[in-house]
Amino acid sequence: MNAGGQEQLLPVMEHFYTIQGEGYYQGRAAYFLRLGGCDVGCPWCDVKESWLADAHKKMSVAEIAETIALSGAKVCVITGGEPFMHDLTALTTAIREKNIRTHVETSGAYPLSGFWDWICISPKRFKLPLAECLNAAHELKAVIFHRNDIRFAEENAAKVSKECKLFLQPEWSREDEVLPMIIEYVKENQQWEVSLQIHKYMNIP
Ligand code: SF4
Repeated sequence: MNAGGQEQLLPVMEHFYTIQGEGYYQGRAAYFLRLGGCDVGCPWCDVKESWLADAHKKMSVAEIAETIALSGAKVCVITGGEPFMHDLTALTTAIREKNIRTHVETSGAYPLSGFWDWICISPKRFKLPLAECLNAAHELKAVIFHRNDIRFAEENAAKVSKECKLFLQPEWSREDEVLPMIIEYVKENQQWEVSLQIHKYMNIP
C-alpha cells in the first residue's frame, strides 16, 4: 500500500464523538477528528497546540476510519489545525467506505483534497482562502472578532456559490461585545444567519 493508501499516517491531536456545536449542522451528532498542523496563525486561535504537526501522535488512515466506525457516528467532521495541509484522499475514501459522511472545517488556505459531503470554509485574513475553496464551499462561517471583520466576511461571501450557507459567528471570548452587533447585522442582511458555539454552553468538547 502506498503512502496515500490505508496505511498513510496522519497526526491526530484529538478525536471524539460529540455534538456539532456550530454552523449548519449545529446540534447534530458527529465524530470530530482534529488533525495537527496549521500555519495560518490566527492570534485568537483556541487550539494553538494543534499548530505543530509533529507534536501529535500519528494514526493510520485505516485505524482512524475503524475508530470512527466503532463509535456509531454517521458523520465525521475533520478539522484542525488546517486539515488541508495533508492529502485527505485516502482518509475520506476510507471513512466513506464505512458509510460515514465526510465534513470538513477549513480556512480554505490550501488546495482541497479528498471526497466531501460538506465543506465549511472559515476564512482567515492571516492567510486568505483560495478561490477554488470558496467555489466549492457549502457553508461560509465567518468568525467575528471586530466590527470590521464583517466587511471581510462580505468580501468572501461575494466569492462563494449562490447555494452556499452564510454564517456569522462571534469569537467566543468576544461574544458579549460582538453578538449584539451581529444580531442587528443579520436582521438587516437576511442572507446571513447567526452561528453560536453551542457546545461551549453544553460544556462538551
Ligand atoms: Fe487556529 Fe484554525 Fe486559525 Fe489555524 S486556522 S490558527 S487552527 S483558528
